[in-house]
Amino acid sequence: MSIRAVKRHDVSRPTMEGAGVRLRRGFGFGETQEFDPFLLFDDFRGDHPRDYAAGFPWHPHRGIETITYVLAGEVEHGDSLGNRGVMGAGDVQWMTAGRGILHQEMPRGDSQGRMHGFQLWANLPSRLKMTAPRYQDIRSADIPTVTDDDGTAVRIVSGEFWGRSGPVEGVAADPRYLDVSVPPGKRKRLKVEVDRHAFAYVFAGAGQFLGASQPFGVLTEKEGPDGEEILVRETVGNRSLVVFDRGDEVIVEAGPEGVRFLLVSGRPLEEPVAWHGPIVMNTEDEIRQALADLRSGSFIR
Ligand code: FE
Repeated sequence: MSIRAVKRHDVSRPTMEGAGVRLRRGFGFGETQEFDPFLLFDDFRGDHPRDYAAGFPWHPHRGIETITYVLAGEVEHGDSLGNRGVMGAGDVQWMTAGRGILHQEMPRGDSQGRMHGFQLWANLPSRLKMTAPRYQDIRSADIPTVTDDDGTAVRIVSGEFWGRSGPVEGVAADPRYLDVSVPPGKRKRLKVEVDRHAFAYVFAGAGQFLGASQPFGVLTEKEGPDGEEILVRETVGNRSLVVFDRGDEVIVEAGPEGVRFLLVSGRPLEEPVAWHGPIVMNTEDEIRQALADLRSGSFIR
């Protein structure tokens, strides 16, 4: 067993996106190596319509997947291929943009004015960048929750965990997307295969991620000078992004209010990244082609 050290942690930064949506960015644009196969993570929790009502009007995507997880309120979605839908609290939409979609995503608050959710972008490998667009709309009720003896509850959106599998399938980067709730004061060990990049994003309560004392590499528990377990405490609360180093498990200890966080991991693609807004390809030539396709009206096929 080797514990994944906390490489760093950071609070997500206020950003403006779409037609004027105030959100917070965990990471994105120019941080592709550390998070590969993930490109961007946005926290769009807002408690007043003025923060989000402008929404994300028509825009293109190519070469990536976008994963939207709604916690409160609704997101109305429509695209140029005729797909339409509304995501509600607890629902997930896994959109494989592939060779191209043009869509809009319009947030609507709940009765208390809240619109809460997250969007993650996952990169597609070169062989799938021009694949046919695909939607997986997952209703809250279809996302399995597994509960451990100590009350820890894990919603499995994608990937395998504790012997169960999430409903999202056929995703190239084989990502694992978990929504983890650890009860007050409990310590939990969560496995994350060693060949994956992993991060956590805390969105309720607070907790400590226990990392190896050395800020680099893997420290086996038995590698302390006297064979003792060496752990360093990292307290993080709401809106904290925690980036893990290599290892095969994450250890978290919940504070007095418990802690809830997304735990996301994926196998790196290790391919060149050419990034232009919502279009992410391997080469600048492919970006130029995408922009030419947009201009000539052949982006959607
Ligand atoms: Fe979009």
